Amino acid sequence: MTRIRQQNVTAAQWSSNGEALGAIDLTLPENEAFGTNVFSVAVQRERLPGDVFEKLKSSLEAGKAIDVEVADAVASAMKDWALEKGATHFTHVFQPLTGSTAEKHDSFFEPKGGEGKALAGFSGKELIQGEPDASSFPTGGVRETFEARGYTAWDPTSPAFILENPNGSLLCIPTAFASWTGEALDAKIPLLRSMDALSGAAIKALKLLGDEESTRVFTTVGPEQEYFLIDEQYFFERPDLISTGRTLFGAKPPKGQELDDHYFGTIPERVLAFMMESELEMRKLGIPVKTRHNEVAPAQYEIAPVFENSNVGSDHQQLTMRVLENVARRYGLVCLLHEKPFAGINGSGKHNNWSMGTDTGSNLLEPGDTPADNVHFLFFCAAVIQAVNKHQGLLRASAADIGQDHRLGANEAPPAIISIFLGSELEKVFDAVATGEGDPHTPASFLDLGATVLPPLPKHGGDRNRTSPFAFTGNKFEFRALGSSMSLAFPNTVLNTIVAEAIDELADELEAKTSAGKDASQAVIEIVKESYTANKAIVFGGDNYSEEWHAEAEQRGLKNLKTTPDALPEVLADESVAAFEKYNVLSRRELESRFEVWAEQYALRANIEAETTFSIAKTMILPAALRHLALIAEAGVSALEGEMRSAVEELSTALDALEKANAAPVELEGLEGAVHARDEQLAKSAAVREAADKLEKIVADDLWPLPKYEEMLFIK
Ligand code: ADP
Ligand code: MG
Repeated sequence: MTRIRQQNVTAAQWSSNGEALGAIDLTLPENEAFGTNVFSVAVQRERLPGDVFEKLKSSLEAGKAIDVEVADAVASAMKDWALEKGATHFTHVFQPLTGSTAEKHDSFFEPKGGEGKALAGFSGKELIQGEPDASSFPTGGVRETFEARGYTAWDPTSPAFILENPNGSLLCIPTAFASWTGEALDAKIPLLRSMDALSGAAIKALKLLGDEESTRVFTTVGPEQEYFLIDEQYFFERPDLISTGRTLFGAKPPKGQELDDHYFGTIPERVLAFMMESELEMRKLGIPVKTRHNEVAPAQYEIAPVFENSNVGSDHQQLTMRVLENVARRYGLVCLLHEKPFAGINGSGKHNNWSMGTDTGSNLLEPGDTPADNVHFLFFCAAVIQAVNKHQGLLRASAADIGQDHRLGANEAPPAIISIFLGSELEKVFDAVATGEGDPHTPASFLDLGATVLPPLPKHGGDRNRTSPFAFTGNKFEFRALGSSMSLAFPNTVLNTIVAEAIDELADELEAKTSAGKDASQAVIEIVKESYTANKAIVFGGDNYSEEWHAEAEQRGLKNLKTTPDALPEVLADESVAAFEKYNVLSRRELESRFEVWAEQYALRANIEAETTFSIAKTMILPAALRHLALIAEAGVSALEGEMRSAVEELSTALDALEKANAAPVELEGLEGAVHARDEQLAKSAAVREAADKLEKIVADDLWPLPKYEEMLFIK
């Protein structure tokens, strides 16, 4: 077994640590804290001249650009508010194609009048537009480096906020990022465009369905974020965690997750303290955090907010990840957002709960008590099924990432095959509509708990299937393939666009039928029947992890894109490009640029993993093994020598092969070449790991240079 290395932060230290920082008053009542650092509508109403506030509000509601006078007034009010909150600088935050968040800070203050004084200024122009030197952001060939100019444009629909720091604070303005020719260089612009696309299609369909009141449909997102927490000392002792976010070595510990004792378990005190402080930070930023619990793997946790519109929800999700990482350090912890930090232990995902809601307050995916009679619901649900079936490859690609290759398609939730779980009640409804036979209604049933003091619980018709990658869960779909470190923006851009396309296709049929004199409800039933029959191959209610499903899915003709290299080309598939171009969400050029950036990111990260594997094995693990071998030789126990010698030789041979693969020139030709560029390095790295993990079980513990899984995963 192993010694447990000394932790560098004790419980007593972390509690005083939080206080010493002084940035946070944990006693702030919940409702008082919420949104205190947000330039919210309430703050705008209070601080802006009445006419300016009305103009801003009506431009936002109509989705129109804001004129200069309004912008000047907003900028001035925003600046005063930010200065009162201790801000010294402002920044346009944006999301470049790497998926991370970018920011460049500018001071509000400039020296004025030669008297050694500085005055604070912030104009409407500075609010609306920034011009960061964009030459270092990946653009996938959209912009040559000599045309380094890129613009950030204020997104007034995502509120500005204050980021606190013990030494001051920063006004953050959410922005979009585009090239000077207007091409989107970020994740926000396509998301906003896709929300417009979906709204247009849904409003048109709603009119045909007799809804004359709704004027806008918003897509909504509620993400469930999983993450690991480990003691920071272990993090600093693991060059692989530092460079790649995951452990490239580590034998399976004697105790893993087999006891099932972590999920929904009691949250350790230090971790709960961390959660409470991070949630308070989030509430101040206006993030409506709601749920927290232990996850399945040891040291794994989850946080989820109440859902918001896709744009704000996506920005808030980026902030959530940042707050988790920052606050963890105050407690001597490191938050790991990687999809698979530990081999053999569950990885981390991000469930993307998604729906569509009208400005009049109705959820288009709410089945109500009698879904079989709910024509609106049947129509929009059928559109989602049709979209997911047609664009299953693109959806899979939207969740592709090198970290994901250890989860999706690798015996873990959820699989790489996209399918939809409807639940037995809904499946019955759609089957009855499609076949015209059987009773689509399911009588309400109650769960009798057998004790008179306990109330009978209504049984939920959409019973849960935890193994499905795309599940209907009551009044929304839950896209479960996203990785824990990913931005929500692209997967939701895809969802919104493909569902807009399907709604339009079904609405065209509806229009044809109703203008030929058919009753709208009857027409919807016919359309749903046809669409469901054509697309029901994507519907699957069984166990998605089973071997049989892989065989059946193949028979059904469903795609099984196991890795990022397999999935990424789907971004450029004909039907993907056609859907994105039809709604002006992304042009072919913008899609090609994304493909290029993502393929390059994949290749770069694979290379970093391979080089880190080599360096750790060669300079840390091999020397430890040789020391152990010397000990055996010194002791003269020949029975131990053979095993040790062959283990060292295995590592040494694997290292030679990896060294060659790392040195070999990488073929980047064409689509296939670009994404498969690093296959060889990854395969050889895996062999090195296998040999090293064997050695971990033999070499003297005090010689082993890396913290082991059992140390990292079970410290509270
Ligand atoms: P579970 O773990 O059972 O899947 P959670 O309560 O952890 O459920 O998370 C469900 C998420 O779904 C929450 O973020 C919630 O706000 C979100 N959600 C609920 N309704 C909608 C909706 N209409 N659109 C988008 N997300 C929704
Ligand atoms: Mg969930």
